[in-house]
Amino acid sequence: MKIRLEHIVKRFDDNTAVNDFTAEIESGELVTLLGPSGCGKSTMLNMLSGILYPTEGKIYFDDDDVTFMSSEKRGIGLVFQNYALYPHMTVLENICFPLEIKKVPKKERIERAQKMAELVHVDGMMNRKPGQLSGGQQQRVAIARALVKEPRLLLLDEPLSNLDARLRIEMREEIRRIQLETGVTTIFVTHDQEEAMSISDHIILMKLGVLQQYDKPQYLYDQPANCFVADFLGNPPINKVEGVVKGGKVLLGVEEVDSQVRVENVPDNTKVYLSFRAESVVLDNSSPLKAKVVLTSVMGKEIITSFILGGKEVRGYMNSDVELKRDEEIGISFKKSGVFVFDFESGERYL
Ligand code: ATP
Repeated sequence: MKIRLEHIVKRFDDNTAVNDFTAEIESGELVTLLGPSGCGKSTMLNMLSGILYPTEGKIYFDDDDVTFMSSEKRGIGLVFQNYALYPHMTVLENICFPLEIKKVPKKERIERAQKMAELVHVDGMMNRKPGQLSGGQQQRVAIARALVKEPRLLLLDEPLSNLDARLRIEMREEIRRIQLETGVTTIFVTHDQEEAMSISDHIILMKLGVLQQYDKPQYLYDQPANCFVADFLGNPPINKVEGVVKGGKVLLGVEEVDSQVRVENVPDNTKVYLSFRAESVVLDNSSPLKAKVVLTSVMGKEIITSFILGGKEVRGYMNSDVELKRDEEIGISFKKSGVFVFDFESGERYL
C-alpha cells in the first residue's frame, strides 16, 4: 500500500511538533523516520497509526483519506520499544490475540499464528510465557502479533532500543528479512543513523518537525541537502572547519589557509563550513595545503590520523607506508566525493 502525506502540521498548544510535512511512501518499501530526540518522529508515526490526528494536512493510504479514521479501521500493525506482550498469555495466545478480537475461527487463528511464528522463528517456544523469553525473542513475538492481522502498514517505533548492541544488529537484519518476505509497507522510527542506513529503502531525516531530506541511504550520505544532514550521518562524524569565501576560494580558520577547494557564485566574505568525510582525505605531499599531525591510531583495518587544519583538529583515513609522527607537517588534498561547503548560518549547501 502506498502512503501520501500532504502538508501535515501537528501543534500541541504553541509547540509545533511537525511542520508542513509532505512525502510519498511507495508500496512495499521500508522507510525510516530518522532524527534527533524531539524532532517529531513519534508524533508523525502516531498520526499514521491514528493515535493522533493532524492539526492540518491530509493522510492517504492508497486513495483512501484516512486523516481522521480510527486506528482500528486503518489496518495497521504496531510494534513499540517495550514489547507490550500480555505476560499471563503464552506466545501462541499472544500472537492469536488480535485474531480473537476479530472473531476469526479458532482453527484458522492457530494456523495463522503458527505461520507467523515460523516466519519470525519463535515456533519452537509457543507454550512459553513472555517472562521465559529473551528481549530479542519477545520482540519477535511482538512482530508476529503485529503481522498476524495481515496489516496494510507496519509501524515500528524504536523497536530495538531495549536490546543490547549485538542483538540490535541481529534483530535489525531480521526485521529487514521479515519485511522483505511479507512485502508489507513499513515505517520504522529510530534516532540511530547506522540502524537506518542498514535496513531502509529510503530514509526521511527530520529536524525540529521539518523534513530535511528524503532519499536512499547512500544518496543521503553522498549528497546531503544541508549541513544538518551531513552532520547527522556518518561514523566517524564528518569533519567541519570554519572558513570564509574570497574570490571563490574557501579559506580556513583565522589564518585563512587556502583549502584548495573552490566554490562558484558565493559572495566574498561569506562565512562557511568546509565539511569532509574522513575517507575523502588524501595524504599528498605535493599539495600546497599543509597540516600538522596530532595522532595516528589503528582502528581495525584502517589507520586514522588526526591533524590540525585551519586551527581545528580533524580526522582522515590516510594510507602511509611510513609512520606519521606527532607535529610532523604533511600535505593534504581532498577527493572529489565527500567534500562539501555549507553556509555557516543557514547550513545551505554551496558545494
Ligand atoms: P524521541 O526520539 O525522543 O522519541 P521524537 O522525535 O519522537 O523524539 P516527538 O515525541 O514526536 O519526538 O516530539 C516532538 C515534539 O513534540 C517535542 O518537542 C515534544 O516535546 C512535543 N510533544 C510530543 N507530544 C506532545 C504532547 N502530547 N503535548 C505537548 N507536546 C508534545
